Amino acid sequence: MPTINGVLGPIDTADLGFTLMHEHILIAQWSMRQAFASWYDHDAHVAYTVGELLAAKERGVKTIVDLTPINLGRDIHVIHECAEKAEMQVVAATGFYWTEEPWILGWEIDRLVELLVGDIERGIQGTGRKAGIIKCATDHLGGTEINRKLLTIAARVHRATGVPISTHTSVQHESGYVQQEVFEAEGVDLSRVVIGHCGDTEDLDYLEKLLAKGSFIGMDRFGIDMILPTKQRVGTIAALCERGSAERMVLSHDACCHIDFFPNEMVKAAAPKWNFRHIPDEVVPALREAGVSDGQIDEMTAGNPRRIFERQGAY
Ligand SMILES: [Zn+2]
Repeated sequence: MPTINGVLGPIDTADLGFTLMHEHILIAQWSMRQAFASWYDHDAHVAYTVGELLAAKERGVKTIVDLTPINLGRDIHVIHECAEKAEMQVVAATGFYWTEEPWILGWEIDRLVELLVGDIERGIQGTGRKAGIIKCATDHLGGTEINRKLLTIAARVHRATGVPISTHTSVQHESGYVQQEVFEAEGVDLSRVVIGHCGDTEDLDYLEKLLAKGSFIGMDRFGIDMILPTKQRVGTIAALCERGSAERMVLSHDACCHIDFFPNEMVKAAAPKWNFRHIPDEVVPALREAGVSDGQIDEMTAGNPRRIFERQGAY
């Protein structure tokens, strides 16, 4: 059976099961953590995260894909510790966020590709724990020089390793298009790519254009109601299922057990359902109520993740 890189070791794709395709165990910037010991409370965070992972497990979640990029503080030691304590299958990512780091502009593409390939083939931070997915992000900036470089890097790492790509977009700026354009120009099979944050819009025309190119789309921000409430997110998925696209969508929250962009209390007050439990507890029943069949729900939560990971192999 094909296996993929998991944080606790290889995962047989048949064992992926109910998979949340875009989540975060920890987002805490390396430079702030190093400069200020009080920036991140490791013990409190690990205790909280293990509780959240166990709660997800109780609800049938078998795998969490952690899409934290390197420059948002991806910490394989913390990811591994939480996965091990909760006995949860976790897939970690390699790749870069869209923030314009000076070194992204200044270094050759080949050198950056080599570093990311090392995360997948040899392991992250010298641990031997390997990345199983490639993250890249463009946000609102669209096809800038630096974003095109980031997309090219992700494409070349994918072509060298066969590991799938999963992206961060800004739907208001329809940034899925430029991602597909650069990937296609680099010879990437777009069915190996998840265009992320597509659930933030109700614009079926935009989503169907992305789907027509063969990519998966991530309906992956359940619980961020200030961008779009669950009811509307569910409505969009139900409409796309009716049009025959259940086999091209994956579900997730983009939830962070800790995110240092804002104070924790502020995040919890503003988005109380932004956690690994919201989909099994409320979204799945709401999808059923909206006419989505159990077969389609299984596709979106288990069948599609398996297909995304299973088709491996470099080009
Ligand atoms: Zn994310």
